[in-house]
Order: sequence, then structure tokens, then C-alpha cells
Amino acid sequence: MKYYSTRDKYLRMDSAEAVKMGLSRDGGLLTPEAIPQIDRAFLESLVNQRYQTRAARVMGLYLTDYTEEELLTFAENAYGPDKFDTEAVAPVRTLDGATHCLELWHGPTSAFKDMALQMLPQLLSAALRKTGEGKTACILVATSGDTGKAAMEGFAGVPQTKIMVFYPKDGVSKVQEAQMVTQEGENVGVCAVAGNFDDAQAGVKRIFSDSAMRETLAGRGYFLSSANSINWGRILPQVVYYISAYCDLVRDGKLDMGERVNFCVPTGNFGDILAAYYAKRMGLPVGKLICASNRNDVLTDFLRTGVYDRNRPFHTTMSPSMDILVSSNLERLLFDLSGENDEEVRGYMEALSRDGQYQVSGQIKAALKEEFWGGFCGEEETTAAIAENYKKGYLIDTHTAVAASVMEQYRRETGDQTVTVFVSTASPYKFCNHVLTAIGEAPAGDGVELLDQLNAATGVTVPRRLAALKGKQRRFDLTCEKAGMDDVVLEFLK
Ligand SMILES: *Cc1c(COP(=O)(O)O)cnc(C)c1O
Repeated sequence: MKYYSTRDKYLRMDSAEAVKMGLSRDGGLLTPEAIPQIDRAFLESLVNQRYQTRAARVMGLYLTDYTEEELLTFAENAYGPDKFDTEAVAPVRTLDGATHCLELWHGPTSAFKDMALQMLPQLLSAALRKTGEGKTACILVATSGDTGKAAMEGFAGVPQTKIMVFYPKDGVSKVQEAQMVTQEGENVGVCAVAGNFDDAQAGVKRIFSDSAMRETLAGRGYFLSSANSINWGRILPQVVYYISAYCDLVRDGKLDMGERVNFCVPTGNFGDILAAYYAKRMGLPVGKLICASNRNDVLTDFLRTGVYDRNRPFHTTMSPSMDILVSSNLERLLFDLSGENDEEVRGYMEALSRDGQYQVSGQIKAALKEEFWGGFCGEEETTAAIAENYKKGYLIDTHTAVAASVMEQYRRETGDQTVTVFVSTASPYKFCNHVLTAIGEAPAGDGVELLDQLNAATGVTVPRRLAALKGKQRRFDLTCEKAGMDDVVLEFLK
């Protein structure tokens, strides 16, 4: 299987090369040249398998220059009991006959980013070997919270890689900061930036495009790489859990093989729901893909009107990982829906950077309507969804609550009774203050002490890695100005 760019169909590279590069030099996203098809027999063969085996089988369809043995080893490392707190890895919880929840936060950082970021470093490390790369990859990450920690946790101790994370000094929660500054591993670094997330991100982008910096680092034996969700090595591990969830439902007698399910996904950068779309295109029996947004409703408008318009106010919400106005992974969807028309996609992306908006063709608009349903909810509805689910005995976080709320909206408006799986992307313990408030408790403090308060109020077990934060030694205490980020990187890669 070869890979090409959403902005250049004539480019061709192997999967290892695509994982190593992350982003195509023409600015496009690297994408498989064909979508492998699965049939009923393939699904049946997975029904009684473990998650790790399912992952190796599904990923093997796309990563043809990795052996299935290799992929199985990676899956064992990524999703083993030292990393995940449940053997099921990505368990499906049944709420009623037609409603299930896919829990993706049982990994080491309690957010769904672990599902991909436990796998990507291994794919990358093998890609370095396969492509004969002599240099060490240095991953630079700007994070608004979840990605930085999940990336560090994934890359810690991985040979031939180093990782440096920048986070906005006052822009992440206390729990998130504690998670990052206590990270173990000899190849990791963390630095707070005096500024907001955009400052940190702009600094990282500047370093990436600085050719003098690139040369200096090359002289020291390093090249820069990204762990962002534009990397195919982050999308592919996410395709697995949709197929796995389907197999679980069939195995447990909650779905007949061949029967359709809807997925409702809390969406930011469009990576998670894009993976669901690929699963459907591969042949998984999926009905509607319900795209759930918070008050930043750019995707809802887009799916309804065919016009993507980022010119709108940015809202800071209690589901911060979905506070996003430009969803980069949409580019892969447009490429597929346009019949792999790279010229058309280039046109949209140019309009986006020039005018902050674009309008898709009638053909794409019709396809969007067929495959997706977009909805959004505000802060009050998010809080209400947490309270309602808690009353029914299920404690969910703010991002998951957005999905739960939009799923109900979809059912009310369309009357669709198809079995629906909504996706849970973070443990409620990552957002204790909002969750406590939603269930009628007044948060007493704003740090890791809220873990105990939420536990006392609900009796729900605290994820063991979060519980362990309280006794953990701070390892990093670095702060820099925006302009000083280059020096931090140079010092880190001395
Ligand atoms: C990243 C994230 C999302 C959004 O996922 P995308 O792939 O960016 O759409 C949703 N919820 C949580 C908790 C996240 O960390």
C-alpha cells in the first residue's frame, strides 16, 4: 500500500516513510492511495479476538511494509496491563438496548489520545529503522493539555527519539500541569511558555520552518518531527477501536452481524470522527456519523451548509480539547469525497488560508449529508448531560457529555432508532471541577485534591495514574518567553 498527498496525487511513498514525514512537503496530508475493504468473514474472525490482535490485523491492512508480527508486538506494548487499566483496552459500556458508550480513556493519561500516542512512537521508531534513518527524531509539541502528556508518555524511553513539550503557563488545568511536570524518562523535556496556547503553537511552527535551526540540529544528529493528529500514524490506531466496538457488540449479543450502528463523536480536530469514517468506508456496517461540537460550532454549520467559515468568535469552554476553529483532518475527508481530486482540495485550502472560508461542491455537500449529521451544544446542556447520566448511574466527563447531548438532539430531530454508540474521550477525573459542579457539589479547591472529593462524592474509582500524582516528585520547572523557545530546544538537544 502506497501513500500520497491530499494536495499531490502523483507523489508515492511507503507507509514507513509517511509515518516518518508526518506532513507532506506540499502542505497536504499523507493518505493511503486506496481504502482496504473488510467483509463479514474478516469481522467474524475478529469477534473472539483480544484488542491487541484486532489492532494488528486492522493496521496490517494499511501498513504493508510492517509485518503482522511487528504490529502485534507494538500492540502488546501499547495496550498492555502496565499501560491500560482494563484488559478490554477500549470497553463498550451498555446504557440501554439502543445506546452504548465506547470508553477510550483507560490508558496511562486518562484521555483518548493514548489510543494513538501509545502506538505512534513504536511505528515511528520502526520507520526510522526501515528507512535507514541515522538521525534521532525530536518531537516538538505545543499542547493545550491532553496531547502533550499523552505524547510524552508514549515517547518516553523510545530509542532514537526525544520529545519536548511546550504548554501555555496559565492555560492548562492543575491536574494537566501536574501530569506533565512529573513525567519520567531520560528523553523527555517540558517547558511552560509565558503566553497562551497560540503563542506556544506559533513558536513551535516557527522552529519547524527555521532552516538555520534545521541545519544546526542536523549537525548534532537530530531532525524535527511532529506527533500531531495530522500524522497518519495517529489516525490509523483510531480506526481500530470502531471495528473493535462493533465486534464487542456482536460478541455480546447486542447487535446482529451486519446490522448497522451509528457513532456519535465529540469532535475537535476531526481526527477521531475521521477514523470512524474510514472504518465505514472499509465496509464496517455504520449508519450515520454524528459529529458533536461544543459552542465552537464551525463543523455543525459546515455539515449543514457546505460552507466552512472560521471567521467567528472563539469560545473557551469546559470541553477545551474541542475548542478549535480549524479542523485540519477535514482535508482528508474532502479529498476522499471529491473522488481524490487534489486540485479541488488545494483550492479549498487556499481559500481557507486566504479568506478563512470555502464552499464545497454540490457533490461533496450531498455526500456530507448522506454520511454525517452535525450538532452542537452549549455549556448548560453539557452540564445537564453530566447530571442526567450521573442520575442513571454513569459518570462522564465534559467532552463525553457534549457527545451525549448531541446524540439525544439527533434522535429527537430525526427519529432514527438505529443502535448508537457515543464515544467517551476522557475520564471524568481529568475535569473534576466541572464534573463536581454538574452533579451538585461545590469544588473545594482547584488542584489534585479534587480527585478525592469527586471520589468521595461518587464512589467511582480514581484512575491509578491520576491518584499517584499526589505523591509524585516534580521533575521540570522550566519557563520561557515566547522568543526563548528556540534556545530551550537548542539546550535540550545539546
Ligand atoms: C483531542 C480530544 C477530542 C477531540 O478529538 P479530535 O480527534 O481532535 O476531533 C475530544 N475529547 C478529548 C478529551 C480530547 O482530548
